[in-house]
Amino acid sequence: MVRTIFDEVLLRGTCYENLRVLCKDVGNRLSGSAGAAKAVVWGQKTLDAATAQAGKGGANVFLQEVMVPRWERGAKESCTLEAKGQKSIMLDVLALGGSIATPANGIKAEIIEIHQFKELDSLGEKNIKGKIVFFNRPFSVTDVSAFSAYGGCVNQRVDGASQAAKYGALAVLARSMTHALDRYPHTGVMIYADSAQKIPAAAVSTLSARLIHDAIQAGKRPVANLKLFCRNFPNVPSHNVIAEIRGSELPNEYIVVGGHLDSWDTGEGAHDDGTGVVQSIEVLRILIASGYKPKRTIRAVLFMNEENGAMGAKEYAAQAAAKGEKHYAAIESDRGGFTPRGFAVQDTGAFLRFVQGFRPVLAPYGFTEITTGFGGVDIGPLGASGTHLLGYLPDSQRYFDHHHAQTDVFEAVNKRELELGAGGMAAMVYLLDQYGAR
Ligand SMILES: [Zn+2]
Repeated sequence: MVRTIFDEVLLRGTCYENLRVLCKDVGNRLSGSAGAAKAVVWGQKTLDAATAQAGKGGANVFLQEVMVPRWERGAKESCTLEAKGQKSIMLDVLALGGSIATPANGIKAEIIEIHQFKELDSLGEKNIKGKIVFFNRPFSVTDVSAFSAYGGCVNQRVDGASQAAKYGALAVLARSMTHALDRYPHTGVMIYADSAQKIPAAAVSTLSARLIHDAIQAGKRPVANLKLFCRNFPNVPSHNVIAEIRGSELPNEYIVVGGHLDSWDTGEGAHDDGTGVVQSIEVLRILIASGYKPKRTIRAVLFMNEENGAMGAKEYAAQAAAKGEKHYAAIESDRGGFTPRGFAVQDTGAFLRFVQGFRPVLAPYGFTEITTGFGGVDIGPLGASGTHLLGYLPDSQRYFDHHHAQTDVFEAVNKRELELGAGGMAAMVYLLDQYGAR
């Protein structure tokens, strides 16, 4: 059966073409935007096509309404760097998601460079007040997992503004969350603490970060003029998109496979998380085309709003609980569409060992790592009711070259890597359905 699953996706896979349409015809799709609304229509249509072969009554596609935040970037942001003895330089910047705007003529102030939050405490208000704080802690190059390097830096982006605002900073620039040294800034969510003044925050490219750092090191006391035009609006209605194949023996037990339909408003949301979305759709298509009749109900869920609120994830889990749907397991693909390595199982005990027992049948397809780890943001809320959580684990080295940047485009995805990932996810659904404890 596992061989049949991989043959189906490698010979007749539709996920790569679906990804092309999502990236090129829908494009980026931040929650609450016109792009996100278009993505919902696309998701429903694409799931209809993928499950059509199951025939009437065999599959079911529906929308689940959810209220989501709406933030807009507005006009193109800018930031100039001025220092003694050099021409004014345009830095590469992107407002962070959720940030407030600057005044129309910008915020102009001297830049102070920080690597750790505790430096803010020791410098204090007398050194920080009235300045722009520049967080420049780089990714660790010795962490083998790129996600671990990300985890070691991302608090600069998420919490940096409120940390700096405590000491009177006027705005924040955060080094982009990437190993790559290039001119592409990477956006992402930032969160204001209730206790601090709200100040504007933007990401700078790693090459711009180097320019700022060099000017400070040279004792030039550089000044930045940052202009952001973003706005926060009241929440708006949107949707999770769901398709299911009804179970033949345990129809009220569910296995979910999912990714998130929303993306940041740069690039095309290809690896984050177009690949997870089309792989989840492909799982249903593969199982139907392979003639598999699941015991449990198998659902593909395209979650809305992972990037800035995870409201779709919370709504899905709340409705599952309210309806008494027993979710046996959930698999998320949200680490990019790269070469398969295996699965992260959010468990350290008997369930982990059970899943590790599948390694001999998955290893020939490149799925060799079955280790304890994070399942995913969108399936996370299901964990509270005892659902087993698994994250699809592709190679992590190139993910942050693209994550939340203009470079996250269809062309960055390899067809075979994408298909093998979908095959592994379908195989895992099959194995859990067949051999999972009742
Ligand atoms: Zn994502």
